[in-house]
Formats: sequence, C-alpha cells, structure tokens
Amino acid sequence: MEVKKYSYFEGKIVPAESAKVSIQTHALQYGTAVFGGIRGYYNKDQDNIFIFRIHDHYTRLLNSTKIMQIQFDKNPQELVDITLQLVRESGYKENIYIRPYIYTSSLQLSPRFHDVKADIAIYILQLNDYMDTQSGLKTMVSSWRRIDDTSIPTFSKASGGYVNSALAKSEAVQNGCDEAIFLDSRGLVSEGSAENLFMVRDGKLITPSLASSILEGITRKSILEIAKNLNIEVVERDVSRSELYICDELFFSGTGVQVAWISEVDRRVVGTGKIGSITEMIQKLFFKIVTGEEKEYMKWLVSVY
Ligand code: PMP
Repeated sequence: MEVKKYSYFEGKIVPAESAKVSIQTHALQYGTAVFGGIRGYYNKDQDNIFIFRIHDHYTRLLNSTKIMQIQFDKNPQELVDITLQLVRESGYKENIYIRPYIYTSSLQLSPRFHDVKADIAIYILQLNDYMDTQSGLKTMVSSWRRIDDTSIPTFSKASGGYVNSALAKSEAVQNGCDEAIFLDSRGLVSEGSAENLFMVRDGKLITPSLASSILEGITRKSILEIAKNLNIEVVERDVSRSELYICDELFFSGTGVQVAWISEVDRRVVGTGKIGSITEMIQKLFFKIVTGEEKEYMKWLVSVY
C-alpha cells in the first residue's frame, strides 16, 4: 500500500503539502515553540509499528509548554490518539519519526509567551538510522557551551535553544567530526548537540546528572532502567572533560541517534577503539526492545495497527 502523507495542522488531519504557515508566524521569528521527536519501529514479522514511549514524549512536550507558559489545553492521551490516527491514515509500514511541535501561531510582533495564540502541528517522516550506530562516531568537545538553565530552561525542548545545538553541530562537522560534546556553564560535561551522553569506567555506567543543563532524555531514562535490569551499576554525577579521554566506553543516546558508540573524542581513541562490551550489550537489547522483541519491555510500546 502506498503511503499517503498526512500532517496534523490547525486542528485537522490534512494532506502534508497543504500544512503551511505564514512567513509572519510569531514562532518563526522568535523560536517560541517547543517540540518532540518520537520514533516508531516497523516489525516485519508482526506487520506492525511500535511507537516508543509515546505517552512519556507527550508528557515532556506538555511540561515544556508549562515551563514556557505556552497556553495549550490538550492532554497526553488526546495527543497520542491524534498521532495514532495520523500514522494509520497515512498507512506507514516502515520505521518512522514523528515530530510534534507547539508553536506561537499568531501573526504578531514582539517576543513573548503571554497573550499569543499557540497551536500544535505534527508531521511524520520515514526514518532509519539518523547517525551511524555501528562504526563509531568521531566527536569533539565544542567551543560552544551548552545553554544554561538560567538562560533557556534546559528541561524544555524549546526550538530557540537549538540555535546552540546548530552552532555546535556545524563546528564539529566542519572540523571533520560527526558530533559535538557540550560542556555546561561550569565547564563540566553536559551532552551532545541532540543526544545524552554515557560513559563506562571500571564497569560502571556513568552519565551527567540532571543538573548538568541536559535535556531529560527519554532514551537516557530507558537506558538507566535497562542497565539496572542487567545488573550494571549506574551513576548520575558530574563528569569532567578529562574523564572522556581516559574512559573505557562512551556512547550517545537519544530518539534520533538511538544508541550510538563513540570511537574518538578530541582525536583521542576511546578505550580499545572498538565498541565496548557494556555499550554493545545495552545497544543490542535496546534495538530488540524498540522493535517489540522483548516481552518485559512491551510496556514502553504502543502498537499502531
Ligand atoms: N538532548 C537533547 C538536546 C536533545 O535534543 C535530545 C533529543 N530529543 C536528547 C538529549 C535525547 O532525548 P530523547 O532520548 O528523549 O530523544
């Protein structure tokens, strides 16, 4: 069956090509929007798409509106229902990426969150790997610091904050790397441009704490739970830059990147230069979980069909 591309726009499911905004749209000038990124994995044997932690994604999106004081009155279940209908009507039978965003939609001047109308739009893309998960990513510590919670609330996935990510990503790619690693305003390790970061030292899985100006990643939270279930000791704490150079394993987590191992930081080889055993174990299990092959983790999945 051919996919019919639909989007959710101004309260309706419409053909994707007709979901268009005016150039005067408030959010387009000021980045006054919050967004999400959700994956659906197609399982061929079961001929179904499993959407990963969709309720958690919509709860975070609505928390983002709360932080920003964006007026928006739908609840997570309503957004889940709209999304499922959108995927079904489009007829996808492949891996997909769902991008919902709530944006200030009035045609008004002046950056603000009060007294301005907000709307939600949702579009869907076919998406397999967004970054290489198998051959090891080359990274560099960015010269840009991660935005601080005192400037743009980092728990909110705010569009305007991604100017910071764009600067770091471009700097990394222009320097021959795949991805950037941010330090926070204190000079401690924070996260990637759009992914959380995990490190293995002496058999322990370590990740910067929520106070390191990170986005509270849903994949991060899942990996912490998966690791505990695998009896791996997990630690959320401050991480120094120099630890990145001497750790045994390093990987990114996120909806886009999934679980992708890092082979190099600032031209220093990570560990043995090959994927580490803890990373590999977590990555393998993660891919089985998201494609609906692990019974005990089916609680994280919602099936489309
Ligand atoms: N940090 C940032 C800045 C991100 O944009 C993302 C992607 N949403 C993540 C971390 C990972 O979050 P999640 O696992 O919820 O996709």
